[in-house]
Order: sequence, then C-alpha cells, then structure tokens
Amino acid sequence: MLVLIDGSFGEGGGQILRTSLSLSVITGKPVEIVNLRAGRSKPGLQPQHLTSVRAAAALCNAEVTGDAVGSMRLTFTPTSPVQAGDYQFDIGTAGATTLVAQTVALPLCLARLTGERASSSVTITGGTHVPHAPPAEYLSTVYTHALMFRAEMHTISRCDRAGYYPKGGGEIKLLTACQDTIKPVEFVERGEVKQLRAFIVTSNLPDHVSERGCKTVQNFMKKLKLSAEVEPLNRPAISPGAAVVITAECENGFGGFTGLGKPGKRMEQVSLEACDAFAAWWRSGTACDEHLADQLVLPMALAEGDSRWTTPKITDHLRTVAFVVQQFLPVEVVLEESADQTGLVTIRFLPTLSV
Ligand code: ATP
Repeated sequence: MLVLIDGSFGEGGGQILRTSLSLSVITGKPVEIVNLRAGRSKPGLQPQHLTSVRAAAALCNAEVTGDAVGSMRLTFTPTSPVQAGDYQFDIGTAGATTLVAQTVALPLCLARLTGERASSSVTITGGTHVPHAPPAEYLSTVYTHALMFRAEMHTISRCDRAGYYPKGGGEIKLLTACQDTIKPVEFVERGEVKQLRAFIVTSNLPDHVSERGCKTVQNFMKKLKLSAEVEPLNRPAISPGAAVVITAECENGFGGFTGLGKPGKRMEQVSLEACDAFAAWWRSGTACDEHLADQLVLPMALAEGDSRWTTPKITDHLRTVAFVVQQFLPVEVVLEESADQTGLVTIRFLPTLSV
C-alpha cells in the first residue's frame, strides 16, 4: 500500500524525506513524497538529499522517479529485501555525510539475513562538520553510543577525514550488523554524568588554534565543577577548518553540543558556543539534547516496546519526525510540553507491529 507524504508538513525540510526513505526500505512499502522541502528557501532535492535517495535505493533495489536536483516530488518503490554489503556514496558537495548515514543505519541493522553477509560497511564522502547537521563526533559518540549501548543496535561510526563548508571532501564510515530487534530506551531522569568529552577538531591550522580551543573548554568546565576529557583531533582534510564537539554520556541520557569554525571566527568563540549549548542543556535537567530527541524517534518507533525520553524543547524537527513514523507504523508518539518548555516524548509500541 502506497504511503503518501506531504513534504511541506512541519519543518518541511530534508528530514521528512530521510525518515520516509528509511521506513520505506524497512517496511517494503512504496512511498510518494510531494512538496519536497517546500519549507526551505531553495526547495526540492539538494545533493545531500539525492545521495540519501540513491543510498536508500541501493539497499533494496528501489524503483525511483523524480530523483533529480530541484525535484519536489519523488516516488520510491523497494523491489527487494535490504541487502547487507559494502557501500560507497559520494555527495559531491559539503552536504552532511552524517545525515546520509542515519538514513541507511536502521535499514542495514534490521535487514533480514538473505545472503551470507550479516554485516555492512558504508563509506560516505562529503561534509562532516557543517551547519544544521550532526558533526561526525556526534554521530560516533552520541547517536551510535545511545543506540548501541542502550538499544543494543549494532552500529558504530568513525571519521577518517574531515569535510568543511564549502569544499566538503570528508569521509565517514558506518559499520552495522544485522539483528532482529532493537530495545526500547528510557531516558527520563538523566542521573550522574558518566563521561564528559570535548573533541577539539582542527584541520590544516596552526597548533595554537587547537590549544586555545582546549584551554577554553577546560576553563569553562572548571567553573561548572565538571571534569571533561579534552581530546585534540587533528583531522586530515582538503581545506582548513575547525569544530568543537562536547558530548555527555549520563546514567540515563546523552547529549552533544557543537561549535563550528569559519574564517575570521576565533577558536575561543567556537569553543564557547559548544560550552554554552552544553551548559543550557545541563541546567535544563533533561536527559537528551534537542537533536537526539528527534533522532531517537525513528529507531524507537521500530523498537520492541514503549520508550520515553526528555528534551529541553519540543522542536519542529521532533513534531515532524513523529508525524512521519505514524504514517508508516502502528505506533503512537505523544509529545508533552511542560510549563518550562521542556518536553517528554513517549512512543507506544503496538504489539501488532509487523515490519
Ligand atoms: P534542509 O536542508 O531541508 O534544512 P536537512 O536535510 O539539512 O534539511 P533537516 O531536515 O533540517 O535537514 O534535519 C537536520 C537533522 O540534523 C535533524 O535531525 C537535527 O536534529 C540534526 N542536527 C542539526 N544540527 C545538529 C547538531 N548541531 N547536532 C546534532 N544534530 C543536529
């Protein structure tokens, strides 16, 4: 049965497309998406989105129409079960590699074993530290750790080369293994912090840039009476660039916070952006950062049981992905907002779920 999705719903961005693609691949249901990215100033498919379409199609030999830059309508029809294997995708711009990785991670983990392969590797070339997307260290330390350690989802990622705006050229690798089910999560009271890390990422820049980034984070955390493991990462890249990514693993929660460099922006400022975002989350008392809150919806809609998590705010991204999963799966997503704007997400699993 065809699922029809209005791409202008809510956030009206690329996330509707990516979530729909993942769910179409997993359930085998064909999907038609109209008004693609109608909410954006440059509407229609852009290279990062097109790479997600191609990647999803490669996994299940999908028949696709409307897969062109600028297209605002797409049909996607899987013709085979997901094939585990080795895949390579090149976005060709600084479009976010991590978002392409998130499109294929769930389908590859939940792939039925149809051949001899039980594991997959996916190499994606493009941007790794770019605006409006998870940076590579967020994918490897927040998204995949939350899912691997708490939902028992078999996935890890690593970054071999950084890619910055506008040249891109970075590379991440996602490794997955097939499994039948994933577990629900309960990230409500975050509890004690177990590991606080700060990745000071620089490429083709003098050493003092990284040193100043490290020092700024150390001083900030000292004031909060927290100790962070500060890790300078000098990543190879085809252009200069910098980013600071602070990640927190708590007893029952995860968060990641980013500052991105650009020409003329001081490294102290880059670090403080990540630190201030971390501090705001820390004060909120919630268990997940606002981005993880929307990124957990897809995996938890496929988990075997009810999940709950708290977030500093109910974003449009969260409302949008909640809408999309309910078009494909018999799950109920409840978003409750408190007087202080923090939110509680509940996904109720219906035992009749069959994917
Ligand atoms: P568009 O180009 O249409 O804006 P997009 O394809 O770039 O869309 P969105 O639909 O805006 O993507 O979705 C972006 C995703 O990236 C969301 O899941 C959001 O939570 C996540 N994200 C954005 N910034 C960060 C960040 N700093 N850390 C972690 N995740 C992030």
